[in-house]
Amino acid sequence: MDTESQIKSPAHPKQLSGFHSNIEFRNVSFAYEEKTVLKEINFKLDQGKTIALVGPSGGGKSTLADLVPRFYDPSSGMILLDGVDLRDFDTEELRGLMGIVTQESILFNDTVFNNIAFGVEHATEAQVMDAAKVANAHGFISQLENGYQTSIGERGSKLSGGQRQRLSIARAVLKNPPILILDEATSALDSESELLVQEALTKLMTNRTTLVIAHRLSTIQHADEILVIEKGQIVQRGTHSQLMSRDGIYQKLSSIQSV
Ligand code: ADP
Repeated sequence: MDTESQIKSPAHPKQLSGFHSNIEFRNVSFAYEEKTVLKEINFKLDQGKTIALVGPSGGGKSTLADLVPRFYDPSSGMILLDGVDLRDFDTEELRGLMGIVTQESILFNDTVFNNIAFGVEHATEAQVMDAAKVANAHGFISQLENGYQTSIGERGSKLSGGQRQRLSIARAVLKNPPILILDEATSALDSESELLVQEALTKLMTNRTTLVIAHRLSTIQHADEILVIEKGQIVQRGTHSQLMSRDGIYQKLSSIQSV
């Protein structure tokens, strides 16, 4: 949170009217203070496509994903949205284009309803319920003591990991953003929850532009491009079938099915 506050919007931001073409990482490097975590990252995520990030833990995937909503800025290089440096836009407007679902999605000590409706003004009960249904969350919410008006506790402590993830998916469904940033990590979920989360994410990703930190083979197989990130660099890139036909880290990772 402290780091986030160092991100400033420009005094005279460029106008942002939706998302039309692509997000481009151009020679992006990033360091947390002294520690370089990303080196010379180059790729383009075109509108409507999905890019999956895979690779060993600690390689820099989450950091890379955090640069898109400007939780951090690159130490060098730039990230462009439709050809404009992200730093030239108003940060809140920029984030307004994005739905973010991660393991640490921010939930508040408030009701289920308010957590789903967060960021969307004047959401109706019907809209919140529809979003929860898409996110496979309506079932468990209905069984809570006060349904949608149940308080979820500090950071959602009264819910399981899978339930929290489905609430944050419902929030993204309701917000209906053109760009999605997902971390589909599920190590903490039981298999029923995992299936429900997986299904909800698949529905959410349809017809959107998605950057996903992928852990499931099904997601990876459908990605338009896979970037294999190791020690802060893109060490391999291509589609699943291209990468499977080459010797390398991807083949090894996917043979154990948990990239
Ligand atoms: P991945 O998502 O691939 O597991 P991360 O982006 O989380 O990788 O981490 C990349 C590296 O950056 C790791 O060495 C991690 O310890 C370090 N790192 C992550 N977050 C921070 C932070 N807030 N401050 C300092 N180092 C960090």
